[in-house]
Amino acid sequence: MSDLEDLYREIILDHYRSPRNRGELPSPPAHRVEGFNPLCGDEVVVTMVVEDDRLADIKIGGTGCSISQSSASLMSGAVKGKTLPEVRELVRTFKSMMSIHEASLEGEVPDELLNPAELGELAALQGVVKFPVRIKCATLSWNALVQGLEELAQATP
Ligand code: ZN
Repeated sequence: MSDLEDLYREIILDHYRSPRNRGELPSPPAHRVEGFNPLCGDEVVVTMVVEDDRLADIKIGGTGCSISQSSASLMSGAVKGKTLPEVRELVRTFKSMMSIHEASLEGEVPDELLNPAELGELAALQGVVKFPVRIKCATLSWNALVQGLEELAQATP
């Protein structure tokens, strides 16, 4: 167990025990999306408010394993207040990190991905998502966020 893996584990546990942006925004006006991961039993409720092309507010509800809940908490802190192009870029970066892990049958973290600056604390998730089944836990809240943004985009021509 390396120091970096220890640090990553600490970040995951911290967000699991003290989740950020926990709760539900009143809906309406907030947009509400539910996600479910049957492989693990994780549930997530993402409520979000978009104002002037910016993700003005986001809250996370639901229950599940430490990976799903800490990933949702990390996501909420990373995207809250960002412009929608910034949010989409972060989602793209995060999901590429996850899909590289999905492709890694060895379960090894590729060196070049360690602690990428643009991910900040989100990099912690690469330290635990070593098995394909856990990737669904880590991406659950992100998929709900993307679904919500798409639904909002369709609702506002
Ligand atoms: Zn899970």
